[in-house]
Amino acid sequence: MSVFDPHQVLVSSAHFIGGTYRYGPAELDVRRPSDGERYAGLPIANTGLVDEAVENAWQAFKHSDWTSRPPRERARTLRRWADLIEADGKRLGPLEAVGSTRPINDVIAWDIPYVAEGIRFFAEFADKLGGEVAATRTDHLGMQIAEAYGVIGAIAPWNFPLSMAGWKVAPALAAGNAVVLKPSELTPFSVLRLAELAITAGIPAGIFNVVQGDGATTGDALCRHPKVAKITFTGSTQTGSTIMAACALTGPKPVTLELGGKSPQIVFADAPDLARTASTIASAITGNAGQVCVSGARLIVHRAVLEPLLTDIIASFKAHIPGCTWVADTTLPPIISERQAQRIEGIVAQGRALGAEVLCGGQRYEGMGGGAYYQPTVLAGVDGQNPAVQKEIFGPVLTVQVFDEEDEALTLADHAIYGLAAGVHTADLGRALRAVRRLEAGTVWINRYGRSHDWILPTGGYKRSGIGKDLGRAAFEANLRFKSVLIDIGQ
Ligand code: NAD
Repeated sequence: MSVFDPHQVLVSSAHFIGGTYRYGPAELDVRRPSDGERYAGLPIANTGLVDEAVENAWQAFKHSDWTSRPPRERARTLRRWADLIEADGKRLGPLEAVGSTRPINDVIAWDIPYVAEGIRFFAEFADKLGGEVAATRTDHLGMQIAEAYGVIGAIAPWNFPLSMAGWKVAPALAAGNAVVLKPSELTPFSVLRLAELAITAGIPAGIFNVVQGDGATTGDALCRHPKVAKITFTGSTQTGSTIMAACALTGPKPVTLELGGKSPQIVFADAPDLARTASTIASAITGNAGQVCVSGARLIVHRAVLEPLLTDIIASFKAHIPGCTWVADTTLPPIISERQAQRIEGIVAQGRALGAEVLCGGQRYEGMGGGAYYQPTVLAGVDGQNPAVQKEIFGPVLTVQVFDEEDEALTLADHAIYGLAAGVHTADLGRALRAVRRLEAGTVWINRYGRSHDWILPTGGYKRSGIGKDLGRAAFEANLRFKSVLIDIGQ
């Protein structure tokens, strides 16, 4: 049953600058992942328009009262914004679901409340974290004053358009900055509604702007702009490197980079509840059809529990219902684009050519119309050199490696490039903590997988999975710079 009619969802094909929509000629086709149909065109902000957006943000930062607004009042405004977003499910829900891979029921139950709660979380820091008094000599008073950067450039990926924008924009605004956000050109529209609601909530025009376009044009111009004080980016490792280079050449300016991953899920023979563990592992690689940075893509399992665990995982994979994002009973959404689906197929083919055995899936579902729907897939018989184990696939593909000894498991878990997250399933506390110490990952989950909704634990990568943190107090502080002040107060 369809929850909404995709043809009835009207999008504003525009930028949002200085508090108003700015329209331009449609230069890029935007397609619905669910059926592959073009549903809108997208204007591209060139260097001139990016400059205009940044200038608007700069003027708003300097001349509106946003950064000087009493912190409690700024926090109140942000909470108002969060309330408006949470109450906007009827409009915002279809806007998010129609053009992304997020099923409408998940958007309503999860994504929208998650964004709203994130804004509330960061709003609370606005009036609670300032600077600090330093331990100087008694004839001096030394302080560190926390100040906003000015204009923050935020660049977001397509996999959770609203939530990823929220990760970037909420702490930046709470800290008193102005923001220019570039969403992914694949999922550009839903964040415009956030910007519109920000104005209704009382955030001054120009404090939150959206520029549309591709990475090479619009994203690059944002990174190189001299008045952008900092870039916060979530996306692939390759793009992260390109962005860092652009920021170094034209700044330098600080960057926060949340990048790719290829996270392991390690199951020891004493995993507490094997059926529950199987369910956790299956959902960690099929959620959003595997299009999640922290997808648990590599199962590393003790030989003694391999068979029962795989039986349960495969049963869970086969029970999925692929479908459009507007259909109520969809459990497995589409792959974002035909190009991305072909990339998944390519890596699976490379893996098979080097000996990977397909235990289930390994191909698209048939008869699904114009969307690309990839079957949850298990690839066994792979070693660490197999491309399916090495590369971030960003699809519902789980590789399986078997071990006998604890040390072997932890060696297998260590990825040459990525270190975003890891899961460990064991009833032995000592073993769990040994794994925590040994694993090179920004986050380790024990007997669970996935972030909690507390917002307080920062997220970020080790190795080439990133620099800096989103979420938590660390993300708020990353949007501030600190000024040292020393006062001679005499004897
Ligand atoms: P991507 O790197 O292709 O694009 C991300 C954004 O960067 C888009 O808005 C794109 O237009 C822009 N961009 C591309 N080239 C640019 C350039 N030269 N200069 C400036 N901007 C540029 O990533 P994607 O395909 O949209 O997203 C998937 C990737 O994101 C995966 O690798 C995934 O692991 C990662 N991701 C990481 C996290 C995390 O928290 N670590 C969260 C979500 C997604």
